[in-house]
Amino acid sequence: MSDSTRRVLIVGAGPVGCLTALSFAKMGWQVDLYEARPDIRLADPTAMAHRSVNLAISSRGITAMEVIDPGMTARLLEGAIPMKGRMIHTRDGKQESQLYDRHGQHLNSMGRGLLNQVLLEELSHYSTVNLHFEHKLIALDFDHKSAIFKPSDSDSFEVTFDLCIGTDGSYSLVRRQMMRVVRMDFHQEYIPHDYVELHMAPGVDKDGQPTFRIDPNHLHIWPRSAFMLIALPNKDKSFTCTLYAPTAELDTLKTREQVSAWFDRQFPDAVELIGREAMLDDFERNPRSSLMSVKAYPYHHKDRAVIIGDAAHAMVPFYGQGLNCGFEDVRVLTTLFKSFAVEAMPLKGDEDDKLARALEEYSRVRRDDLLAISDLAMYNYLEMRHHVTTPLYRFRRVVDGLLSSLAPFVSGSSVTEVLSRVPFPAKAARGWLPLYTMVTFRPDINYATAKRRAERQTRTLDFCGYLAGATAMGATALGLWRLALANGVLPRK
Ligand code: FAD
Repeated sequence: MSDSTRRVLIVGAGPVGCLTALSFAKMGWQVDLYEARPDIRLADPTAMAHRSVNLAISSRGITAMEVIDPGMTARLLEGAIPMKGRMIHTRDGKQESQLYDRHGQHLNSMGRGLLNQVLLEELSHYSTVNLHFEHKLIALDFDHKSAIFKPSDSDSFEVTFDLCIGTDGSYSLVRRQMMRVVRMDFHQEYIPHDYVELHMAPGVDKDGQPTFRIDPNHLHIWPRSAFMLIALPNKDKSFTCTLYAPTAELDTLKTREQVSAWFDRQFPDAVELIGREAMLDDFERNPRSSLMSVKAYPYHHKDRAVIIGDAAHAMVPFYGQGLNCGFEDVRVLTTLFKSFAVEAMPLKGDEDDKLARALEEYSRVRRDDLLAISDLAMYNYLEMRHHVTTPLYRFRRVVDGLLSSLAPFVSGSSVTEVLSRVPFPAKAARGWLPLYTMVTFRPDINYATAKRRAERQTRTLDFCGYLAGATAMGATALGLWRLALANGVLPRK
């Protein structure tokens, strides 16, 4: 390894760790990426069984990847399936399409494994990147900038670093080690719901070829108020379905008969699509996983450590933003390194002021956004499992759609250049925009601004609603008064 450039130690080769490694390699750093698990490119696919198989990646994640490596992003998108809206499956078996965006912007269903593999493949082209699989971080010493790793097949050893980036997921050890030396606020919350994944195999068309059983260009939702089933398409024409339900409800389903009867009551059409036996096998065999949210602040320690991705902000998956937000972290960190002119070359002194200021600014810039998206993700569970079927929600969508048609259209790609230079443009976008559009398709609007604007828009709509209600009541009262006068019910003066 060359000693002429500084060394960044990245802990965790999930998607966020890999994109971070790529960004630092491009900025000229020596990169050491350590991962506790085996290399996913060689691993048995069942090693991924406990993770969601596919993810919805939106403009935020794509823009972040494009800023760092446009060519790789284009290759990744070739393997994605566009989802242009939600398909709501009602209890009586009807399907209703709700498009996400009137300009045709869409989410992308991407295989988690493919995403990780393409990123690792890209990294393997850099001679300055060292990948270390089956190496688990067990301790960090920030004073001496050193870390101890335990390989799966040998004794633990120590390495040194200039900068340590924790991308080691929701149970981050880097975060826990930082909490010993940083006055970090920390909040972890489990929600009383679990999720289980079920597989919907492809159907067979009249020529004997595999085919999608339901429309592949939608994210399918079976909303049932207290719980829901969703399905995302895969390239092999199957769907990955995820059941989200209260832990207490799932606890009542002890036998195959009980599970079968419950699915028949709640999702009869899904039972047919997945196949009863396959569904019961999956439900029995696949793990029931919990869902939690992590909030922390600040995210950095002096000029030597920072946590990003789920390590800094694990959130419930209902806005489909967890990874998009993690990729955005990488973009924001990269732009700040560039604007603070943080050098990849070694320094003479002990402390790097520019690096310390870039990391401090990162914590400052990210704080409100990460809190906002965490809250929005929690709220969206209620929207997906319940609100999407209510008349008020549908009416609101129509009004939002009408008002937003007056706002100028800004495509995700047109902002990529700006977002490669600054965390977010200073000038906020104008016009009326639905919250979902701002969060999902407008990476130039930060999460906190999106949340604030949506709250303001809701207050405006509520006020208009009260005004319309009051006017209607006033008009009715006036009409009744005139009628009463005309019929002599009320005495004339
Ligand atoms: P991880 O993917 O958790 O990777 C962390 C890595 O660090 C792992 O490989 C782990 O092995 C390694 N590691 C941990 N500890 C150590 C250690 N001590 N030493 C070395 N290595 C270590 N997000 C979206 O944007 N869209 C979606 O549609 C979406 N759907 C989701 C559905 C579900 C059911 C769930 C649970 C999440 C979903 N998410 C979604 C969120 C998304 O999965 C996460 O935000 C994303 O995986 C976070 O990536 P990461 O790289 O930060 O962490």
